[in-house]
Amino acid sequence: MQPVRVRFAPSPTGPLHIGGVRTALYNYLFAKKHGGIFILRIEDTDQTRFVEGAEEYIMESLKWCGINVDEGIKEGGKHGPYRQSDKKDIFRQYAGTLVEKGDAYFAFDTPEQLEKLRMDSEKNGNTFIYNSSVRGELKNSLSLKETDWRNLLLQGVPYVIRYKMPLNEDLHFDDMIRGHIVVNTDTLDDKVLFKSDGMPTYHLANIVDDHLMEISHVIRGEEWLPSLPLHVLLYRSFGWRAPLFAHLPLLLKPDGKGKLSKRDGDRMGFPVFPLFWPYGETAKGYREEGYYPEAFVNMLALLGWNPGTEQEIFSMEELIDAFSIERVHKSGSRFDPEKAKWFNHYYLQNRDNNQLAMEFREFLRAKGIHYDIVHLEKLIGLVKERVSFVKDFWQETDFFFVAPETYDREVIKKKWKPETPLQLTELKSVLENIDEFNPSVTEQTVKAWIENKGYNIGAVMNAFRLVVVGASRGPHIFDIISWIGKEETLKRIDKGISITGEQA
Ligand code: GLU
Repeated sequence: MQPVRVRFAPSPTGPLHIGGVRTALYNYLFAKKHGGIFILRIEDTDQTRFVEGAEEYIMESLKWCGINVDEGIKEGGKHGPYRQSDKKDIFRQYAGTLVEKGDAYFAFDTPEQLEKLRMDSEKNGNTFIYNSSVRGELKNSLSLKETDWRNLLLQGVPYVIRYKMPLNEDLHFDDMIRGHIVVNTDTLDDKVLFKSDGMPTYHLANIVDDHLMEISHVIRGEEWLPSLPLHVLLYRSFGWRAPLFAHLPLLLKPDGKGKLSKRDGDRMGFPVFPLFWPYGETAKGYREEGYYPEAFVNMLALLGWNPGTEQEIFSMEELIDAFSIERVHKSGSRFDPEKAKWFNHYYLQNRDNNQLAMEFREFLRAKGIHYDIVHLEKLIGLVKERVSFVKDFWQETDFFFVAPETYDREVIKKKWKPETPLQLTELKSVLENIDEFNPSVTEQTVKAWIENKGYNIGAVMNAFRLVVVGASRGPHIFDIISWIGKEETLKRIDKGISITGEQA
């Protein structure tokens, strides 16, 4: 088998959609599985769509995911340049070669003329296709006399180079996912290969680069399938061996209706990009939302591929081991934001508490709260099971760090009784007299006092939790008070008695 060399070839036109990240991931998994090379090629020949910052964004996204580039604009390599705009002269030469071979031609039609032809066809209920049916009547090097078109070139009249689509030929080719495909050339147009701005189009640059970079397998999104017949023909015209092709299924909206778009994410509150996009119309990213790259990659790998077993949790190494193109699905994969969270929950549960404590410490630091790791680790142990993201630790534990500012009205309505303030005042003095303020001593003492007084334990404990936490949530109340300490506990009871008393 030819050495495996695959490429991810994004155009730097904005943030990289998660569908694009999945394409990169599958290319990477395939390459690593077969001991091959993963190349990052920047396809920036469409100058009108170039967006500043996109190239860096793409590289950082791959790095965050743990998709390591073997050859690329940063890494270098023997097959460079890896940015297409850095080699436009090479593409021009190849376009010239095709003209010499008679498989491409110069076309001088202006955009206005073409637009008019399109409109006229539309009026008659037809679609205008620039191919063998009309090219003889248009202004190009096939219809004009050689001296005339050469003169036009000499005069500097703007031109494009078009591919000369063969007449009525059934093209046969294979896709590793979709199987055998047959397309008749009469349904195709004479695509532009080289533009009047001196730049190649995607089609020419893509094929020439894949050849020069010795790409063995082209793994890319389904949206490129319609371009495949032209690409196969270009390989034939150049006399090059074509790589094998695999067109990946689309990522669909959560309801399965159509392609997943940024708007779906905005509407439903989940990101469709790996990282935050800071330019122009900003967009949320998985990284900044608190996802672990391992969880993100694991989730993405299973969107369009299955291992053929029940296994759902995969490290990158395991993915490399298990991945095969044969198990990539033909039909689109529905994106499920809840499943994405589920993966993060799983990975968080499997992190050790010390690691999580360090991550949470960073989060707290940003809020100006400083705590030592040992304490945070204990806290994490108390609430971990309920948490899917590091930021959730705050929602679960804020009352450990700050006294409640408000009290849950529903709880007050249901649990606050006329005798509650008095009971809490008593409770305060019971706690005040405890020297060893730890969970077991405080629990025993408080419970003994309740029993002794004949109070309703539920009622007292609910009110106690309300003044300490502000609501009826959180871990064991005696763990909480031992953590915040005696002084703070007494303060909260004091504050709680008056405020909730007024509200009740
Ligand atoms: N530049 C194309 C893109 O943006 C590459 C398609 C391909 O992989 O051939 O997706």
